[in-house]
Amino acid sequence: MSDLLKGKKGLIMGVANNRSIAYGIAKACADQGAQLGFTYQNDAIRKRVEPICNDLGGDVLVECDVTDEASLDKTFEEIKKKWGEIDFLVHCVAFSDKNELKGRYADTSLENFLSTMHISCYSFTAVAKRAEALMNEAGSMITLSYIGAERVMPNYNVMGVAKAALEASVRYLAKDFGHKKIRVNAVSAGPMKTLAGSAIANARYTFKTAERTSALNGSVELEEIGHTSVYLLSDMSTAVTGETHYVDCGFRSMGMLPPERQDLE
Ligand code: NAD
Repeated sequence: MSDLLKGKKGLIMGVANNRSIAYGIAKACADQGAQLGFTYQNDAIRKRVEPICNDLGGDVLVECDVTDEASLDKTFEEIKKKWGEIDFLVHCVAFSDKNELKGRYADTSLENFLSTMHISCYSFTAVAKRAEALMNEAGSMITLSYIGAERVMPNYNVMGVAKAALEASVRYLAKDFGHKKIRVNAVSAGPMKTLAGSAIANARYTFKTAERTSALNGSVELEEIGHTSVYLLSDMSTAVTGETHYVDCGFRSMGMLPPERQDLE
């Protein structure tokens, strides 16, 4: 490991515990010398995020509920006060009613459709706009997506629709911020055993199927998502923007389960 992010300051949104994708990314960024700040959704989550922030040498810790515009403003005011500027942003925030992460997409309620789009899609645009105002040239932003954005994944339902809109927002934001050399990308991760991941019905089946089908015949580790994110957040990827980068052990490239693997446990 080297110092790919040395001298860079980055805000990490979406750590709930040490299995969160945001944690894997934060750890990899800290290992590469980044100075980190963290947001947490509410007091209950603060208890778990505070020790993680301390362990990784974070020096900003702010409550931020992305559905609350005042809370978003306050977060970036705190960042401005503490750091003055920012080099990267990591957005790992999503939510949908788990009663609708099963069964038919056709049965999605208007209320949950709007709230899923708000928290899982619009929130990235809301934070990206605020981060851009403080961001240095060659800054970088990433958000997290899933293959359910482009293909039907059982039970992913309205979250797949929100991720499709999120990936489209990444492309529009990349264009909006391009003249400042600020890059915007999505990391599309394979299924992970996290709180959000386990809210989707039959999560174990999805996990096992992805593991068996993927080109690498394995499942993604948090560390691997962290390493890819370091590449996208660092100066190693200054010509990469508007992309959805898959970190899924090659699941997306496969057409079907290889016959020699069908009897594997
Ligand atoms: P997680 O449960 O650890 O993280 C989700 C985070 O969203 C939590 O920290 C939670 O506090 C935060 N959040 C939810 N509502 C919020 C709100 N109103 N305001 C502020 N924060 C809020 O789960 P995760 O799997 O690490 O999820 C992180 C991202 O990765 C999500 O965008 C998720 O869709 C995406 N993702 C997950 C998987 C997977 O299989 N777990 C795969 C691909 C992409």
